[in-house]
Amino acid sequence: MRYLLGNWKMNMSLTKISEYTANIKKINPDVFVGVAVPSVYYGYCYKLKTKMAVGLQNVSEYTAGAYTGEISAQMLADTQADFCLVGHSERRQYFGETDEIVNLKLKQLATQSILAVLCVGETLQEYESDKTKEVLERQIKIALQGITPQTDLVIAYEPVWAIGTGKTAKPEEISEICGFIKNITKEILGREVSVLYGGSVKSTNSQSIINQPNVDGALVGGASQDAQSFIQILKSFL
Ligand code: PEP
Repeated sequence: MRYLLGNWKMNMSLTKISEYTANIKKINPDVFVGVAVPSVYYGYCYKLKTKMAVGLQNVSEYTAGAYTGEISAQMLADTQADFCLVGHSERRQYFGETDEIVNLKLKQLATQSILAVLCVGETLQEYESDKTKEVLERQIKIALQGITPQTDLVIAYEPVWAIGTGKTAKPEEISEICGFIKNITKEILGREVSVLYGGSVKSTNSQSIINQPNVDGALVGGASQDAQSFIQILKSFL
């Protein structure tokens, strides 16, 4: 399966969501297309949900109870969320999400059979000191501890230095790293998982990235907030 996923981050409004929904017409049925929306707007995306998948950007590592401000996997299942991002670099960077917390969140989603999009990626410093593979291997191994092979999971390779910066990794580099991720997950889970690339993907560069070997699609931040540019990216799937 190939995927085009968007991440609205902490953006959009009710007006923008209704314009967005009106602008979404045709979705290629061969590609799983969806957007991760701010949780407060999830319930307002019911019309959008008839056109594409709608997911969330985060889930609690706890099951239920006195965790003010948190949203549980059970609540996501209850409201039929289609997927959930886990371990996005902004959550790791600004909200102290460790690999161990990411692992707990994946386990919560697994108990509810919700598609998890595990985000991994190296910082600029790690990239420049040639530590990319080492970092990814650590992030994936800890995140997948105790995760069963049948867990509904895709991995998004998102170099931190490419997110929201306008810089992207080179297509051959992306292909090599996505292949590396596939091998590690195969070792751990005994099966291949789909691997997406994320980091400043837009309609002008998407074709050369998403059609590389080992790349099963994209996770798009900024360019997913405009329906036209998001759909333009979908058209670049060959
Ligand atoms: C993201 O938020 O996951 C992302 C890849 O953002 P952008 O496309 O804006 O770099």
